[in-house]
Amino acid sequence: MREHLKFLNPNLSCDRKASAPSAVFRLENKTGRENTVQSLEELAIDHVRKPLVLAHNECENSDMELPSPEICYRALESRDSRLDGLMFVGVASTGIYCRPICPARTPKFEHCKFFASAAAAQDAGFRPCLRCRPETAPDLASWHGTSNTVSRALALIAEGALDGDGNSVEKLAARLGVGERQLRRLFLQHLGAAPISVAQTRRVLFAKQFIHETQMPMTEVAMAAGFGSLRRFNETFLNLFQRPPSALRRKNSRKLKEHDVQLRLRYRPPYDWDCMLAFLQARAVPGVEMVNGGRYIRTVEIGGTMGSIEVSHLIDQQSLGVKIRFPDVRLLPAIVARVRRLFDLGADIETIDRHLSADPVLAPLVARRPGLRAPGGWDGFEIAVRAVLGQQISVAAARGLAGQLIALHGHSVPKSFRMHPDLSRVFPTANRLASVSSMGLRIPITRLRALKAVAEAALADPNLFRPFGSIEQTVARLRTIHGIGEWTAQYIALRAIREMDAFPSTDIGLLRGVASINGNATSAANLLSRAESWRPWRAYAAQHLWAADGSAICKPTTHAASNVG
Ligand SMILES: [Zn+2]
Repeated sequence: MREHLKFLNPNLSCDRKASAPSAVFRLENKTGRENTVQSLEELAIDHVRKPLVLAHNECENSDMELPSPEICYRALESRDSRLDGLMFVGVASTGIYCRPICPARTPKFEHCKFFASAAAAQDAGFRPCLRCRPETAPDLASWHGTSNTVSRALALIAEGALDGDGNSVEKLAARLGVGERQLRRLFLQHLGAAPISVAQTRRVLFAKQFIHETQMPMTEVAMAAGFGSLRRFNETFLNLFQRPPSALRRKNSRKLKEHDVQLRLRYRPPYDWDCMLAFLQARAVPGVEMVNGGRYIRTVEIGGTMGSIEVSHLIDQQSLGVKIRFPDVRLLPAIVARVRRLFDLGADIETIDRHLSADPVLAPLVARRPGLRAPGGWDGFEIAVRAVLGQQISVAAARGLAGQLIALHGHSVPKSFRMHPDLSRVFPTANRLASVSSMGLRIPITRLRALKAVAEAALADPNLFRPFGSIEQTVARLRTIHGIGEWTAQYIALRAIREMDAFPSTDIGLLRGVASINGNATSAANLLSRAESWRPWRAYAAQHLWAADGSAICKPTTHAASNVG
C-alpha cells in the first residue's frame, strides 16, 4: 500500500513532475520541451489527454498509475468520462466509492480518496455506489497493461484463476513466469491492491451486475460469480452493503428466455463496430458463427459444455449487449472474459490511437477509423487451427475449409441452447482433432501434419495459448510446433493470446496496406523496422494497415506466401 498512500494525501502538491520518476507526470509539449504548467485546468487536461504512452520497461518501474488528487478531483467535478475505468473515488463521509461520472453531487475535496482500481477502493473499506455502479465501468486491462504482467494476470483472474480452492496467487505467478512477491508488488504498484483483493472485488462486482441486469436466482448468481457457497455470498453482501443481495435487485429487470442471460459490457469510446463486424463476417465459419442483422452470433463450448452467444452494439450506452444461452452458470465469468477478449473491450483506445497518430504513415489511417479494435478469438486452439488452414490461401478459402472441418468433426449443440437454426455445431476440440484417424480435408500433407501437431501440442500443454514471458518468448514457444512459422505464430499471438505488440510483418495484406498509403512497395524487413516506433501496440497498427488494404472498409486479406516454418 506504500505507493498508494502517497496520493491519498490531499495536501500533495499537484506539480509532481519534478519528483515523479516515471513518465506519468512528465509533461512535454509538442516541441518536446518540458511544459510550465499554467493552471490546474491545463494540467488536468494535459494529464487526461496525454497519459501513459510508454515502453514496457518504463512502465514496469512507474511509481503509480494515477494523476494527482487535484487532477482526479477536477475530473470528478466535470464528470469526465475520460477517466472512467481508470480512476475511482472513495468518499470518506459516506463510505461509498464511485466512478468519476457519478451523477451524485460532487463530494468535498477533503472527503475524497482516489484509487487506481475498484479493488483498491474496496480494500480501503469503501463499498460500491448503487447509482454509478462501478461494476459497469469500462474494464481497461490494457491501461494496466502498461505493465504486461499485470494485464496478463488480470485476464487470468477474470477467467477465475483465483476462484475455487485449488487456485492460489503462487500458482498464478508461476503461470506468468514471475515470482509471487514480484506479482504482489506489481499489483500494489499498478492497482493499489493485492491479487486476492482484485479477485474478491471482481466476484462482488460480477454478482452485483447479475443481480441488477438479470433475473437469475440468487443461488445461481452466487455460483456464477465464483463464490463457493450461498452463505459466503450473503455474508459478503451483508458486510459490504448492510443488506442482503436480493434487496439490490431492481423490480423491473427484463424477463428473458429461461436459459438466457443478458449483460451489458462497457467499452471506452470510440469503438469502430462496423469494422469489427466486417472482420468477423469475412472469417465467419459456417455452422459456428455468423453476422446477422448487425449482430454477431456463435456457438460456444467450454470444457465440453455447449451453448450460444449473441453480441450487439448498444451505441448510446457505449456498451456491447451480450446474450448468453448456456447450461452452466459457473462458466459465465469465463464466457464474459472471452467475449471481452474477442471484441477487444479492454483497450484504452484513445491512448493507443494517439500513440499511433504520432506516426505520419498511420496518422491518416487512425483519423479515418478512430476506435478501430484488434479482434481477438473465442478460443486459442480454434484460432491456431484456422491460422494453419489459412496458410498460403485466401480468407474465403480458409473459411470454407474450416466449415468442412466443423461439418465433419464438430459436436452438435443441444437444440435448446442454439440461437440460430444454421448454427448447430461447435468448433472441434484439440482432443477430437488429435484422435481422428483422418481430417477428411483435401489439403497438402504438410498442412495436415501441422494441424495434428497443433492439436497434440494443445493437449500436451493446456496453457499453450496463454501468455507466457515476453512476446518473443511466446512466439518462440509457438514456433516449436511443427508447421508453425513466424507469420502463423505472430498471428496466433495477436488474436488468440492477445499480445497487443504482435506483428506478422510478412503478411501480404500489411505490405499492401503500406503500399496503398504512399504508392511505394516495401519489404517485410523494412516494415518490421518501421514498426519499432509503433510498440507496444503494433497489433493495432497491423489492424489499421489491413483496413487500409484496398478501398473497401476492412477488406479481408490473404496471407503471406511463405509462412510455414
Ligand atoms: Zn456513484
